[in-house]
Amino acid sequence: MAAKKGKLDVTEDETIEQAFQKYQLLKQIVDQWQQERGPDWRNVLSLTEKPPYLPVRDLPVKAIIELWKRLNIAAKVEIPDSDLSEIMAQFNKDQNTADLDAEMSTRLHMAIRGVAQLACEMANQKGVTAHKFRQTAPDGANTGMRCPVCGEVSILAVLTSPEGKRVMHCTLCGFEWPVKRVGCLHCGSEDAKQQIYLQNESFPGIEMVVCRLCGQYCKEINARELSVQDYVWEDLRTLPLNYAAELWSKEHVKKLH
Ligand SMILES: [Zn+2]
Ligand SMILES: [Zn+2]
Repeated sequence: MAAKKGKLDVTEDETIEQAFQKYQLLKQIVDQWQQERGPDWRNVLSLTEKPPYLPVRDLPVKAIIELWKRLNIAAKVEIPDSDLSEIMAQFNKDQNTADLDAEMSTRLHMAIRGVAQLACEMANQKGVTAHKFRQTAPDGANTGMRCPVCGEVSILAVLTSPEGKRVMHCTLCGFEWPVKRVGCLHCGSEDAKQQIYLQNESFPGIEMVVCRLCGQYCKEINARELSVQDYVWEDLRTLPLNYAAELWSKEHVKKLH
């Protein structure tokens, strides 16, 4: 099969090194918190019988706030617990952080991720399966892209080493589950010819797979070419590819409606 290839134009971001430093600092705090507080919180978490095993909205709010507070303190931002609880309650209602400043929102997401990762560890220890977990949106979207553990949609696929099997990697909780090797994970099309693989030389080992039928895209990391320590950072670092793929799709994919 000759895959259709193309080139993506990407706007370079000079602040990436700065962003990395910030991310690393927060990540260390999350790691510390998980080591120190993970055992206690794991006793509180329980997985359901069927996926999603522990949806984000069911994560213990107190755990998220506990970690969020630590991240805020590290950033020298002090906010009363009551305010954090209020923001959390609002977030659980609408998943919206538009009212928060960008850094506050980043720290909240890191806190949610930090707690969700505990659930993912539990799921992996229990050996839960993603088997037959297909949640389809009313428009038929997101086949196989919804995380069986936390229920969030991920567009990050990884071709694993050495055989190149395709798994989805949840950028929220870190869970991985197998998906079909070819075709569109959004609309379910199995026609490989409709998938366009776009690359940019600044990001070796990564392809943006755009579907010509639905115009949606996935980010595919080839773990046989690129060794990734931290998929969350890798996804953030390569966000320019998402914007470029979106733009490409708008220009090249004829909307069906
Ligand atoms: Zn997940
Ligand atoms: Zn598609």
